[in-house]
Amino acid sequence: MSEQIPPCRDAAAPAFGPVPRRSTRQVLVGKVALGGQAPVVVQSMTNTDTADVAATTKQIAELWRAGSELVRVTVNNSESAAAVPRIVDKLAMMGISVPIIGDFHYNGHQLLADEPACAEALAKYRINPGNVGFGKKKDTQFAQLIEFACRHGKPVRIGANWGSLDQALAARLMDENAQRVEPWDAGRVLREALILSAIDSAERAVELGLARERIVLSAKVSGVQELVAVYRDLARRSDFALHLGLTEAGIGSKGIVASAAALGVLLQEGIGDTIRISLTPEPGASRTQEVIVAQELLQTMGLRAFTPMVTACPGCGRTTSTFFQELAQSVQEHVRAKMPEWKITHPGAENLTLAVMGCVVNGPGESRHANIGISLPGTGEAPAAPVFIDGEKAMTLRGEYIAREFLGIIDDYVERNYGRRLA
Ligand code: SF4
Repeated sequence: MSEQIPPCRDAAAPAFGPVPRRSTRQVLVGKVALGGQAPVVVQSMTNTDTADVAATTKQIAELWRAGSELVRVTVNNSESAAAVPRIVDKLAMMGISVPIIGDFHYNGHQLLADEPACAEALAKYRINPGNVGFGKKKDTQFAQLIEFACRHGKPVRIGANWGSLDQALAARLMDENAQRVEPWDAGRVLREALILSAIDSAERAVELGLARERIVLSAKVSGVQELVAVYRDLARRSDFALHLGLTEAGIGSKGIVASAAALGVLLQEGIGDTIRISLTPEPGASRTQEVIVAQELLQTMGLRAFTPMVTACPGCGRTTSTFFQELAQSVQEHVRAKMPEWKITHPGAENLTLAVMGCVVNGPGESRHANIGISLPGTGEAPAAPVFIDGEKAMTLRGEYIAREFLGIIDDYVERNYGRRLA
């Protein structure tokens, strides 16, 4: 019989509407709060050589401008450790104060000892209990990393990973499993090893003096169903804040769909305090795509609002040209490009809803549900595009400048409805 997993959602909670969040301890990463009842935080990771200060600073700035609230960098050698404080200084000079997380494997204890400025500049350390060190050195090096975190007042993510599972722990659990009257299948034993690796390491960190409010846990796997099972269990067995992510999600639509499927289930159950979408960038594509996907996941689920959402129909035999696809794309790009400025000058603009529809048969209905909607003429329809504002037909656009005029209507609406009023 399969194990019964109690739901994290309160049984009396509505099945539709705001999702009750799992109660966790709150962790401060720089000035960004994770867990407790803080909004789910979007984070990302650079793929530049951290030792290349200019390239890494540039990419962090891009990720931050796209909306990443935390950014992780690899700290794998003395050059990258030495670069970290310089990167943080450069960002500060650019007016960017996004917390930077250092990702350590094997030699983190040594790098933090050799580069105290790096230990201080980082807002959080990420360590993997499966590769803190080899053999007998593992416990000592883990303790050293935790001591650095205590000394510098930094939180730590203890991030277990399927691909680098603590092999000694896995072997012990396999042996214990063999003694069971009804042994578990191997997959369940390995899931248990991953969860125990995270939880036991966190408890060890607490014994070493790290406050529970300075610990974030993750236990990443690359399969959707395994990830859901692991995190449900992790959420039930601890009250640490959780970092969610499907590791090695993949490239393009596969990576997006797999991440959204796994994280969507967990977020709907109130599990997860920060998310990262681990997309493999397509050749030439921007690293910021993982930030956009994370934001869109949270926004389409109604958990947060980042940028005006554009509803667009899929198009069909009624659509006469690609103009309507181009308009939907340029509207999305326009509001995304404007949002960093609107966030400051027009707070609330992120809640704006827009609709771009391909014909005037079904288009007006959807357009009326949005703050601003446009229905373009379909096959055989008059060359006129009615525009609806807050449910009412406001005007009809005609001619070759429909796109430009529609973007102007959006900007005017934002100015009228979200512009800061001077006292
Ligand atoms: S709104 Fe019109 S063009 Fe778009 S899919 Fe529906 S019928 Fe087709």
